[in-house]
Amino acid sequence: MNSELWIEEKLEDYLGLRMKVEKTLFSGKSPFQAVDVVETKGHGKMLLNDGLIMVTERDEFVYHDMITHVPLFVHPNPKNVLVIGGGDGGTAREVIRHKSVEKCTMVEIDEMVVNACKEFIPQTSCKLDDPRIDLIIGDGVEFVKQARAKGQHFDVIIVDSTDPIGPAQPLFGTEFYEDIHGCLSEDGIVVSQGESPFYQEEMQNKLVNIISGIFPLVSIYNFSNLTYPGGLWSFTFGSKKYHPLRDFDSQRVSDSGLDFEYYNKDIHLGSFAIPTFQRKRLASWLKDS
Ligand code: SAM
Repeated sequence: MNSELWIEEKLEDYLGLRMKVEKTLFSGKSPFQAVDVVETKGHGKMLLNDGLIMVTERDEFVYHDMITHVPLFVHPNPKNVLVIGGGDGGTAREVIRHKSVEKCTMVEIDEMVVNACKEFIPQTSCKLDDPRIDLIIGDGVEFVKQARAKGQHFDVIIVDSTDPIGPAQPLFGTEFYEDIHGCLSEDGIVVSQGESPFYQEEMQNKLVNIISGIFPLVSIYNFSNLTYPGGLWSFTFGSKKYHPLRDFDSQRVSDSGLDFEYYNKDIHLGSFAIPTFQRKRLASWLKDS
């Protein structure tokens, strides 16, 4: 008899990523999704929402470095940052490492994710009680609608969302990005979790198409990680003014005194060099030259 416990994240009906689990630390069902935290053998603690891997202790730094430091080093003076989703806390943790940031508002719909991570994954959630982080439990879609109506403005908005299932579905819609545009400052930048260039072409096309219809500068950049299907993954970059490469001053990275495990100035520049198949597919929507 085999008593080993493995979890498997399935993509469609033809791919699975299996990881050995040592023990389950938390299992709950919120009004939005199933939330699990497990201790894995090879990847440390891992958060799953609806059975999909969100973060692991072993490779979360890659995702969180790239979703945060790319826009925050392109914008010359990001003071007011908004994170939509990101309930594990890793993105907000990285945002407040930037000295220019006065406030990081984080809007996560699911309190269970935040509480589970606070209890079991301090590696990502460790800064959620920092006074510069204003954590709001609520719907990001509604938040940006209201923020726009009230004339609130952010320098950088980071959409750190799950795949477009359940409450995250409208985060991949035109209206949401129109509201984001409306509550970004006149030189604002939005970066979003942009799905897999190999396996989620349709969703990636849809997202880049939407952002392209709203923002004058539109790019996509890639990174490699261990736990999302296929390894290679994308972030979309929509900007009102700053070009992600021409307006990137690499000296600011050195001057920041920050130490990173994945991000550096060469990774910043190289991540926008996307493979030909992806560039061909997205060519009609990218506005990056
Ligand atoms: N890095 C992760 C990934 O790509 O798999 C995303 C991590 S983070 C845990 C994603 C969060 O987005 C989830 O905790 C989920 O509850 C949150 N979320 C989904 N829809 C949302 C919405 N409409 N408003 C705010 N947060 C939302």
